[in-house]
Amino acid sequence: MTMTMTQTTASQSITIALSKGRILKETLPLLEQAGIVPAEDIFSSRKLIFDTNHQHIKLLVIRATDVPTYVEYGAADMGVSGKDVLLEHGARDMYEPLDLNIARCRLMTAGLVDPKPVQGRIKVASKFVNITKRYFASQGQQVDIIKLYGAMELAPIMGLADYIVDIVDTGNTLIANGMQPLDMIAPISTRLVVSKAAMKMKHAQIQPIIDSLSEAVERAKIAAAEVIS
Ligand code: AMP
Repeated sequence: MTMTMTQTTASQSITIALSKGRILKETLPLLEQAGIVPAEDIFSSRKLIFDTNHQHIKLLVIRATDVPTYVEYGAADMGVSGKDVLLEHGARDMYEPLDLNIARCRLMTAGLVDPKPVQGRIKVASKFVNITKRYFASQGQQVDIIKLYGAMELAPIMGLADYIVDIVDTGNTLIANGMQPLDMIAPISTRLVVSKAAMKMKHAQIQPIIDSLSEAVERAKIAAAEVIS
């Protein structure tokens, strides 16, 4: 790992927005491997902004769905975000230089194992309204989309929707609710995003962070392959 930050450029600070929750637990070891360590324990603190062992690097810990917004407006220079969130948001004005290869899962349509006949137009429940709209349009299907904020699996059971669009990892949540995965919309993993403006203005600070994270990702892949073999 070679994150060399020159003294002359160290005054330009870099803010990295991290997604709270499941992704954060996998992000912190990668950051540590890349030589970036929070100055205090993020999980036992209520703070939203954290100093790190690098004077010019700060971490924001925010809702996953807010990360692209911070990066898009340049309020954060970089971000760590699930591809599902980026696809739903639209992720304008940012680069996606690195697949961090963590929190891998699939974005899928799913339906009841024993579906009832569809009455009228197909209804699809999801928190991914934009992705759902685009996916069914690309299939030439007109559907009514019902926005939900969680527990999508309940919608077909209660007759609120015919299908759902949701994240599937092991598939156990679907199975437990009498549902099955149907079509894959997109493979999902966590990505590093960089504000286009920051990439231009703070390239000397940002590129070493991308490089050291990239090396950390490669090392993690090798370590995972060794465990399997
Ligand atoms: P599973 O039962 O393993 O298929 O997990 C499905 C549920 O876990 C979904 O409803 C998601 O809310 C959540 N989930 C699983 N993996 C991820 C991920 N990588 N990112 C976000 N949510 C996930």
